[in-house]
Amino acid sequence: MTDLAADTLRTLQYTERERFIASHPQSMALASSAQRHYLFGVPLHWMRDWPSPATLFVAQAQGATLTCADGVQHADFCLGDTGAMFGHSPAPLAQAIAEQAARGLTCMLPATNAAAVGELLANTFGLPMWQMALSASDANRFVLRWARAITGRPRLLVFDGCYHGAVDDTLVDMDPVTGATLPRNSVLGQVHNHASFTRVVPFNDLGALEAALKQGDVACLLAEPALTNFGLVPPEAGYWEQALALCRTHGALFVCDETHTISTALGGYARGHGLEPDFMVVGKAVAGGLPCAVYGFTQAVAERMVQAKNAAPEGHSGIGTTLAGNALTLAALQASLEHLHTAENYAHMLDLASVLARGLRERIAAAGHTWTVTRLGARMELQFMPHTPRNAQDVRDQAQSELEALTHLFMLNRGVLLTPFHSMMLVSPATTHDDVTKLLAAFDELLAALKAPRVPQAPVPASRSA
Ligand code: PMP
Repeated sequence: MTDLAADTLRTLQYTERERFIASHPQSMALASSAQRHYLFGVPLHWMRDWPSPATLFVAQAQGATLTCADGVQHADFCLGDTGAMFGHSPAPLAQAIAEQAARGLTCMLPATNAAAVGELLANTFGLPMWQMALSASDANRFVLRWARAITGRPRLLVFDGCYHGAVDDTLVDMDPVTGATLPRNSVLGQVHNHASFTRVVPFNDLGALEAALKQGDVACLLAEPALTNFGLVPPEAGYWEQALALCRTHGALFVCDETHTISTALGGYARGHGLEPDFMVVGKAVAGGLPCAVYGFTQAVAERMVQAKNAAPEGHSGIGTTLAGNALTLAALQASLEHLHTAENYAHMLDLASVLARGLRERIAAAGHTWTVTRLGARMELQFMPHTPRNAQDVRDQAQSELEALTHLFMLNRGVLLTPFHSMMLVSPATTHDDVTKLLAAFDELLAALKAPRVPQAPVPASRSA
C-alpha cells in the first residue's frame, strides 16, 4: 500500500488548504500586507517554501513551542531547520545576550571572554584551533579558501546532493550517466564554470571517491558525514574510515560540515564516531540560533595557514567579514557551549528521538505502508520510500513530493510543525513526551485520512497563495 491515488492526495490537499485558511486569519492578513514591501511577501524568500496556502507568521517561540499570529501553539519539530535545535531562546542564552547587549555589540577586537570560548570550543568539538564567521555558508567559503591556499590545489570535491549553504563552488549536481559536474539549474545568476574547479561523486561509493582523489588535484573533500539536505542519507558501515584513509593517501584535506549532523552526539558526528577531520564547520545551532558559525582545525593545518598568510602580500585575504567574532556573538557562544552543548541535553534529545522514531515506525507498519524512518541522533526523517536511501540518486528516484507536502500541511493544521524539507523532525532539550504524543496522534489522523474513502470534493483551485 505505497502508491496512494493521486486524487486522494489532491482531495486531502484541498481540504487541508481550506482548513489552514479558515484557522489562520491573522497569518492570512499579515501575508497579504507583507506583500507590499517584501519579495514574495517575506523577509527571506525561503520562508515561502512551506506548503501552506500562506506564510505562517510567528508571534513567539519559546522552548519547543511556537505560537503563531493566530494564537495556535505548535509543537515545533522544525526548530528553525536546526538553528533552534536546543530550543527557542533557552534561558541562559537569553540572559547572556541581554547582559552583553548592554556592554557593547561589536568592536572588531576580541572581547575578554575570547580565550575562554576558544577553550570551550576545543573541549566540545575536539579540535585545538578555531576561527569564527557569521553563518555556516561563510565558514564553508572561508575554509575552502584556506584549503586551496595551503594545499596549492584548485579542486573541491563534494557529494552529489550536497548542500553547504550559499557557496558557489558547491552548488553543483552530478550527471547521473557520465558523472560530470553540472551547474545546479535552480541557482540564480550563475556564471561560474564549476566543472573546472569542483568534482562531484556519489555518496557511499568508495570507488568513485578514489577515482576523483587519484587525479592529485583535490584540495579538500567538503562533506557532511551523513547527507542531510537531500533526504537523510547515512554513511554505510566503515565508509568514513576508508574515505578518510583515501583522502590522506591522496593528499586531500577532509572538511567535515557538522552544521546539521551536530544532532548526532555531543560534539557532532565525527567526534561521536572517532573520525578525525582536518577542518570542521558548525553553524546554525552552535550559538543557540544567534547568527554564528565556527570552524576548527588541527595544529598541523593551523601551521600551514599561518605560513600561507605570512607568505601572501599585505591586503585582503578574502576570508572573514567585519562582524564575525563580535562581542554579542561571543557571549551567546559561551553561554551555549556551557549550558546547551551538554551531555544531559543530548541524553534527553536522543532518548526522546528514539521514542518518536519507534512510534512512527510502529504506525507505518500497522498501516501497511512501506515507508522508512531514518534517524541520526536527535534528527529523523519520514521517507516515503521502502528503504533508507544510499545516495542522492536514490532519493531522486523514489521521493514522493506531493505526499511530503500534504503531510507537512496536515500536521501543521494539527499544531505540529515539521521541517518543510523532506519531513524532517528534530527533538530539542525542551521537547516533551507530550509533544511527541501530539505528533504521533496527528500522524494517526493522517494515516486514517489516507486510508478512508473520500467523498469527491470541489476541484483544487490553480493557486490560492497569499
Ligand atoms: N552546511 C549545511 C550542512 C547546511 O545544511 C546549511 C544550511 N542548511 C549550511 C551549511 C548553511 O547554513 P546557513 O544558511 O546558516 O549559512
